[in-house]
Amino acid sequence: MPSPDLGAWLAPPTGPWLGPVPEADIDSAPFWAGLRRHELVILRCPDCATFVHPPQASCPRCLSLNLTPERVSGRGTVYSFTVANREFAPGIRPPYVVALVDLEEQESLRVVTNLVNVAIGDVRIGMPVRAVFCDLDLGDDAATLAYFEPDDA
Ligand code: ZN
Repeated sequence: MPSPDLGAWLAPPTGPWLGPVPEADIDSAPFWAGLRRHELVILRCPDCATFVHPPQASCPRCLSLNLTPERVSGRGTVYSFTVANREFAPGIRPPYVVALVDLEEQESLRVVTNLVNVAIGDVRIGMPVRAVFCDLDLGDDAATLAYFEPDDA
């Protein structure tokens, strides 16, 4: 397996989207609806103030069933990442970087994402990042994904 080109620029997707399309369920619907508004929305427990992600029905800390969507800043740091150097999902062309991003609102509040607007060789664990929203070109349907890019501010 050849090494990835460390100078390769990771650009957000353009043109018709051929990759998998998110399907919301009752727990994740607020997350996907937030992305359509270009907002990062995470469920939060009003009883113990814990953010919960991935979306689920109950609070893992206090078992409350009252989780409520709350907009977060979209800022965080790269917890870990890997470079995908071959095609794993049809329609998503390599190379790309899959990252775990820790959101600033809470320790270990982590999202799985792709990094964009950066060269592969410049990605570092601990680098500050911010969410960017990409409306997928699906023809009649509409969906938005959240990617993360370096936050130089
Ligand atoms: Zn709770």
